[in-house]
Amino acid sequence: MAVDEVVALLQTDSVRGLDQDEVERRLRRFGPNVLTAKKGRPAWLRFLLQFHQPLIYILIVSGLITAGLREWVDSGVIFGVVLANAIAGFIQESRAENALAALARTMVSHTLVRRSGEKREVASANLVVGDIVLLQAGDKVPADLRLVRARELQVDESALTGESVPVAKSVDPVPEDTMLAERIDMVYGSSMVTHGQGTGVVVATGGDTEVGRISELIFSAEDLETPLTRKIARFSRVLLYAILILAAVTVVVGLLRGKPLLDMFMAAVALAVGAIPEGLPAAVTITLAIGVSRMARRRAIIRKLPAVETLGSVTVICSDKTGTLTENQMTVQAIVAGSEHYEVSGSGYAPFGRIVRMDGREDDGSRALAECLRAGLLCNDSELVEKDGQWQVQGDPTEGALLVVAVKAGLDRAEQQARFPRLDVIPFESRYQYMATLHADERNGHRLVYVKGAVERIIERCDQALDGSGRLVAIDRERILGDVDHLAARGMRVLAFARLEMAPETERISHDDLASGLVFLGLQGMIDPPRAEAVTAVRICQEAGIKVKMITGDHPATAAAIAEQIGLVHRRDAALPVVTGEDLATCSDGELQRTVEQANVFARATPEQKIRLVQALQARGHVVAMTGDGVNDAPALKQADIGVAMGRAGTDVAREAADMVLTDDNFSSIEAAIEEGRGVFDNLTKFIVWTLPTNLGEGLVILVAIFLGTTLPILPVQILWINMTTAGFLGLMLAFEPKEPGIMQRRPRDPETPILTSELIIRVLLVGTLLLIGAFGLFRWELAGGASLDEARTVAVNVFVIMELFYLFNCRSLDRSVFQLGMFSNLWVLGGVCAMVVLQAVYTYVPLMNELFQTSSIGLFSWIRIGLAGLLCYAVVEMEKKYRRRIRARKKEKEGR
Ligand code: ATP
Repeated sequence: MAVDEVVALLQTDSVRGLDQDEVERRLRRFGPNVLTAKKGRPAWLRFLLQFHQPLIYILIVSGLITAGLREWVDSGVIFGVVLANAIAGFIQESRAENALAALARTMVSHTLVRRSGEKREVASANLVVGDIVLLQAGDKVPADLRLVRARELQVDESALTGESVPVAKSVDPVPEDTMLAERIDMVYGSSMVTHGQGTGVVVATGGDTEVGRISELIFSAEDLETPLTRKIARFSRVLLYAILILAAVTVVVGLLRGKPLLDMFMAAVALAVGAIPEGLPAAVTITLAIGVSRMARRRAIIRKLPAVETLGSVTVICSDKTGTLTENQMTVQAIVAGSEHYEVSGSGYAPFGRIVRMDGREDDGSRALAECLRAGLLCNDSELVEKDGQWQVQGDPTEGALLVVAVKAGLDRAEQQARFPRLDVIPFESRYQYMATLHADERNGHRLVYVKGAVERIIERCDQALDGSGRLVAIDRERILGDVDHLAARGMRVLAFARLEMAPETERISHDDLASGLVFLGLQGMIDPPRAEAVTAVRICQEAGIKVKMITGDHPATAAAIAEQIGLVHRRDAALPVVTGEDLATCSDGELQRTVEQANVFARATPEQKIRLVQALQARGHVVAMTGDGVNDAPALKQADIGVAMGRAGTDVAREAADMVLTDDNFSSIEAAIEEGRGVFDNLTKFIVWTLPTNLGEGLVILVAIFLGTTLPILPVQILWINMTTAGFLGLMLAFEPKEPGIMQRRPRDPETPILTSELIIRVLLVGTLLLIGAFGLFRWELAGGASLDEARTVAVNVFVIMELFYLFNCRSLDRSVFQLGMFSNLWVLGGVCAMVVLQAVYTYVPLMNELFQTSSIGLFSWIRIGLAGLLCYAVVEMEKKYRRRIRARKKEKEGR
């Protein structure tokens, strides 16, 4: 259908848009513009998949064997554990998925619409059929639209059609039976605008859109796999084989020693269930999920779970300047026009202040100054609004600053717009670094283009300049560049302004029209103060061995000045120059790798160059976090190990490509997320170091008993009791461990190093052996003292639990003692310990438990011996830690010398 027909049919107005009353009526009638998420896998399948793990297979086989042997209690407990494990895993997974989805929902997307004749930003969910939507490069299309206007509009429709090359759009109608991918007069919800601008009328919202019909394809569950969970899966497979071999050895050795086959089966089952760290997968997911929520509290929203882990290993952060390291609060402070320099007073966006010449005198009517200010006012898409006495800018802060200074000079925007109505626009794009608008001059019927942008881009197109009295003179590029350096060295962002007269009948402008012949009008320099928090965050990163690099589209001198204010470079570091986009363009890949290591500031860099920088850094072995906000930043964000997008200023395209989104756009939130990432990894390591000795100890106890030909000190059900209760009540509490002091004074973790270093493996072996000695020794002691087998086994189980309980305090830090951390700094641990003590009392003294687990009451002296074993274990590990600390200090001393 033709545009007019569509507009008439939908009872709207392509210029004014709908009225608010009508929007509300339609919203009530048709509902909000949201896609109802369709579940990826059905719940029952996700539940069944919980059983699909190698170690669970062993448990199931063990359960079947014990059932075959008519050991009903054992079999029942084993299947109970298998079921409990599946339920816990299922709940954990769903919660982690829901948490990620909920975080994703907190990022409400907004759309620019025209309603009641005004431009407004509304939540995309509130769009209705008939709304007039304004699109620009970087936007995600919020609903299905029939285009009303399109200017060089290109859209990436890969979410719908699978075709990743952007499609050029226009407003001309297409035949009725045209395939979706070729309907160039339409844009569809969830596609991305990659280029140009457009306006469209909403024809379908929510579930009625094309994407709504296939939404189950897009809403597949978030991936919960991370490098660590993959490593653990691999470890489980190795463990599976080890367990199978040891179980076979157990049976064979036992038979050779003349034991009955039945007993040996039970021993093999005990070995298998003992050696399996049942709690590990759940603990990993829970710890990562806690990390996600801790990061969200510090304004970093995780979109992809692996990022939580990778964050702890980041070695380089590549950050934008504007808005991330600086406030993005622009104020014009200096103007150069017609060879005269001016200073502007006043701060912020309040349009009050004066423009005076350097000699302190008021301006006496310079034509160049007036034109330079008018260019800034008209070649501008932002709005200045006063709300509750506060002046704010809607739109680009750079443009806001230009409005403010024009109002300070007494220009009235409405009046100027009426005199010079806008006919066409070339929007600003980082790639071209300028913006231009075509105006009609109502007084003399001329057509006029105003252009503003990066100085280099503008002056190469100018051959004349306007002087103070309004005459055209030859342009003096040298002098202009000198002025720019002067302003930029003060940390100012400098924009150049120019104009071009066009033939009276001109209706449209293109980049080619502006290739040459422009008249230079002047420069405006604006300050954008560095964020105070960024200065601290940069320092913390540097102490943590993380390099911070600024990659900006701005002028090299501005970049250098801001970098110095933020502490990224120091004036004495003459060896660390600013590298420009031009330098990068001529660099070979090898040279780039050297440059990228040394330099910290990259100016006038294009989005395409960002990708090369990331690749060069990665080739040097770095783990790179990279920020980005523009349309063209998406590939670099995907290439980086952690792509970081901005929640406020960034484009939808960048946000979709990112692993993490900052809700406050602030550099310091990246530093906070890295800190949390390191904490998460620490806690995971602590849990693993805590849990493995138990499995090792249990396995050893069974093996030793078989080889010595004695009765088993612990039975399969008892082992399962130990593993399940201690993992839940003791080990899991390590996930709540606060970050250790000095966490940001360590080097970043090399992602290639194994989780368990040789030091930690030795600790696991040490504690495993202590558990063996403790449990086996006290078991024999009880028997020798005349205790029954049930009593001796109850002691052995309590030895395991109590030693693990003491060892938990060792594990609260991998190298400090709990007294250095503070006994009460993790109350969860204390709560878990109390609960565990109560449980063990129940296990030992309640008759039902005595029957189920074949336990028996034990006396005070047995408890004292068990307690001493626990204390001894604690003391040995602390001595080992102290020894490590001493060695490390000595090594450091040597290095220092
Ligand atoms: P970053 O955010 O990556 O640190 P940036 O915001 O300074 O960099 P761009 O937005 O790509 O980078 O801007 C590059 C240059 O384009 C600026 O230095 C300025 O000269 C010019 N520029 C910026 N905004 C506009 C605009 N709205 N209109 C015209 N020119 C602009």
